[in-house]
Amino acid sequence: MKLVTDYNENQTVENILTIDVEDWFHILELPSEIPVKDWIKLENRVLNNTLSLLNLLHRYNAKATFFVLGWVAQYCPDLIREIENQGHEIATHGYSHQLVHHLTPDEFAQDISLSLEYLSRVASKPIRGYRAPGFSLTQDCSWALDVLLDLGLTYDASVFPLKRNHGGYENFAEEAGLVTTPQGRQILEIPVTCNDVMGKKMYLLGGGYFRISPYWLIESGIKQLNKQDKPAMIYLHPREFDPLQPRLEMSKKRTFMSYVNLHKTEGKLEKVLDNFQFNSIENIWRLSSEVELTELRVA
Ligand SMILES: [Zn+2]
Repeated sequence: MKLVTDYNENQTVENILTIDVEDWFHILELPSEIPVKDWIKLENRVLNNTLSLLNLLHRYNAKATFFVLGWVAQYCPDLIREIENQGHEIATHGYSHQLVHHLTPDEFAQDISLSLEYLSRVASKPIRGYRAPGFSLTQDCSWALDVLLDLGLTYDASVFPLKRNHGGYENFAEEAGLVTTPQGRQILEIPVTCNDVMGKKMYLLGGGYFRISPYWLIESGIKQLNKQDKPAMIYLHPREFDPLQPRLEMSKKRTFMSYVNLHKTEGKLEKVLDNFQFNSIENIWRLSSEVELTELRVA
């Protein structure tokens, strides 16, 4: 794996903020799955939750990459326009929120194509990036990286480089860089950020981990990386800022991880944005054109 070395020319490290735009009923692997055709019958909370989040980011002058579910773009096109108007990056989270390792390459390609169709109708800039639902891009489905390149995408942010519920890609590099796909091509991979906590690799900076971890631990995790000139990546969902969302039936463990500390997410993110700089993936890696990506200096 080659490392991208020119992501930052400034003294202050810019960190990466990412938001997976989906609704309260898109929590994965529910005991009784809700079919896609029924999603439209459920209360829409993603619209207002995302608008509130946009206001928060505006207050701190922070930019983010929004990995939007194609289904959300289909039913809330104006929301996608608003995200882009505020200077954030639009990327794809697929259409129907399926785990990658549950799909064949053809099914995966169809799902991403459909999401790109709806996103491209409303986004003015080309879509460059993808994040898999549940970070489900595992070693067994690294073929997905070639599908992304075939569909014109240039980066992926789906790798969780430790063991995990929905997948995980053990022994994957922990830093962003160009990786070689099974077909021998290169794609920029931006894995989930791991931190060293008392000699143990841990996740602190996204979803339930972010909501459980005390602020001081999150702050020291980001500082630890920035001291080495490395950006940290945070990932959150609009529903994580919504303590009043309807509760879904799940196992005790999943219920805890899905709903713990929802009332603390906003305040915690505000503290983070107050103390650190955050930007979108396209701004940090200057993905404004194909030419710039191929010109990335690698070590
Ligand atoms: Zn998701």
